[in-house]
Amino acid sequence: MVGGLFMNMRQNLNFWRNNIYINDNVLQMAHEFDVQKVVSCLSTCIFPDKTTYPIDETMIHNGPPHESNFGYSYAKRMIDVHNRAYFEQHGRRYTAVIPTNVFGPHDNFNIEDGHVLPGLIHKTYKAQREETALQVWGSGRPRRQFIYSLDLARLFLWVLREYNEVEPIILSVGEEDEVSIKEAAEAVVEALGFKGEVVYDTNKADGQFKKTASNAKLCKYLPDFNFTPFRTAIKETCDWFVANYDNARK
Ligand code: GDP
Repeated sequence: MVGGLFMNMRQNLNFWRNNIYINDNVLQMAHEFDVQKVVSCLSTCIFPDKTTYPIDETMIHNGPPHESNFGYSYAKRMIDVHNRAYFEQHGRRYTAVIPTNVFGPHDNFNIEDGHVLPGLIHKTYKAQREETALQVWGSGRPRRQFIYSLDLARLFLWVLREYNEVEPIILSVGEEDEVSIKEAAEAVVEALGFKGEVVYDTNKADGQFKKTASNAKLCKYLPDFNFTPFRTAIKETCDWFVANYDNARK
């Protein structure tokens, strides 16, 4: 069960319980049915809030997560505990990937519950239609590493086929590709050709200021992997949303 910052703040209990049940159910059934490989999905927002940067795979359990999404974070951390225990007790090579903020076609574009990029794409599209201002939530200063869903899908297949560690692996663009929410909003505005006013609503939460992750482990395994440039991926996602507006999840 996933959602953006604002859905997490409203539903920490649901995120905790549902994800704990999903973890235990999926992994135990996989074990009982002799499934050879399971790749679970964590997220960089589960890392300790107070930390040094960049964050790497060894730091998951080093301290409390950000208070906005503690339900989700602790539940997701338990997948790593599960994986280690299945390996120790049954020799299972179940593992987990840790992507940064994912975006792309077929995302959840719901404004209240979704993540920042699909939310901004939907809001910009509406502001354009209704000739109103675009409301970006928070100060625009927090920083995020975004990964295009098509790049992540390629990496997922590689993990499934070739990555044999039980320890998780961060799937992220480099630290130098981290952008502010303001820069992300500007990329959406440009891709959709929005000409109206852009307003930052500082009454809304900023969430975690940053969670800069290291992709050094990934680069060691796949030094030649090419990430789609951020602006190209944003343009493709905006074009998809406009072309599929009627049927998009929103
Ligand atoms: P996070 O990366 O886990 O914090 O989750 P999000 O993908 O929801 O990103 C939240 C960040 O984007 C915060 O700094 C918000 O203030 C900012 N933000 C700006 N506009 C929006 C919006 O329309 N939706 C969401 N979810 N976040 C927004």
